[in-house]
Amino acid sequence: MAQVVIRNLNKKFDEVHAVKDVNLDIRDKEFMVFVGPSGCGKTTTLRMIAGLESVTSGQILIGERVVNDLPPMDRDIAMVFQNYALYPHMSVYDNMAFGLKMRKFDREEIRRRVHEAADILGIRDYLHRKPRQLSGGQRQRVALGRAIVRHPQVFLFDEPLSNLDAKLRVQMRVELKKLHERLGTTAVYVTHDQVEAMTLGDRVVVMRDGVVQQVGEPLELYNRPANLFVAGFLGSPAMNFSRVRVAAANGGLRIENEGLRLAVPPPLAGRVGRYVGRELTFGIRPEDLRIATEADPRDLSFEAVVEVVERLGSETLLDLSVGADTMVAAVEPDAPARVRGRLRLAVNPERMHFFDPATETAV
Ligand code: ATP
Repeated sequence: MAQVVIRNLNKKFDEVHAVKDVNLDIRDKEFMVFVGPSGCGKTTTLRMIAGLESVTSGQILIGERVVNDLPPMDRDIAMVFQNYALYPHMSVYDNMAFGLKMRKFDREEIRRRVHEAADILGIRDYLHRKPRQLSGGQRQRVALGRAIVRHPQVFLFDEPLSNLDAKLRVQMRVELKKLHERLGTTAVYVTHDQVEAMTLGDRVVVMRDGVVQQVGEPLELYNRPANLFVAGFLGSPAMNFSRVRVAAANGGLRIENEGLRLAVPPPLAGRVGRYVGRELTFGIRPEDLRIATEADPRDLSFEAVVEVVERLGSETLLDLSVGADTMVAAVEPDAPARVRGRLRLAVNPERMHFFDPATETAV
């Protein structure tokens, strides 16, 4: 069983408290993705799991063992780096074999494992080449191969796709997913790319300023973000936010500001009710807005002025002015919208989000 358990983990670099009291149970065979903006502490956390960075306080367990004081070599992990870290003077075969040679595996076993990994990754024909004779995507496969041949308990990935061009990145993302399904090895993966996080992760950890903001399955984080940061970080274009006042009206509740006057759907009224007479941050994702029809209730729609129309083919993005706010709506590809035109937008009442303006936590 190769679970990774992190208990009260802290890392301080002089004045920087880079990782703050992180607790996490990564399950056997799970693909866990750490995501967050630059400097949030995700790489430092990964490097502590790898043993490349010392732990200031707390514990890391791999399998059943506390590994805090074990050197990287003895942790039964294999790491894949952003820059591939291949030896330029060695052939692909020797790059892949290197870690096994260091560990004194016999020649036949090394040959068997390198060929097996090369077959999985489709690089059998390049085994005699040097890294400089390979494309970026092929080099990345070699770096993966070098990790696979070790048959480690845990794979650690540090932004492994970020040096590839956009198209190759998408292709390698799919290959990584297939590879994980095939090998079933526990994986910890660091990225700043929320699409990678959403598509690769069985679960995702969102970090900010060294603190874990939320842990959960991708759609759980997307549909029920715990706070304003997670809500704004996942999703592209990002969730729209508006500051609103909560008012009691006709036996129900409504939210309002200069441009919005919307009914609060009954299932949300319990939680929003505590804010009557006060302000809340209202959030709605671009895809949860659509152009309203006559049939849409007035109290679940609002008027906007179209500022920009972006026709992407699969959908159309509208940049809108709504009172003093700007919003983005993702609507049908052939939506009848023109710049400076007025439109009514309907809100999906099941997809309204509310956040406390002071604590920023979801209401
Ligand atoms: P990025 O995506 O840019 O790599 P990250 O989320 O991985 O960001 P870390 O690299 O873990 O962030 O860095 C977290 C914080 O710790 C940052 O403020 C960074 O400047 C600081 N830090 C990282 N390594 C060191 C170090 N060796 N010495 C001092 N400060 C460091």
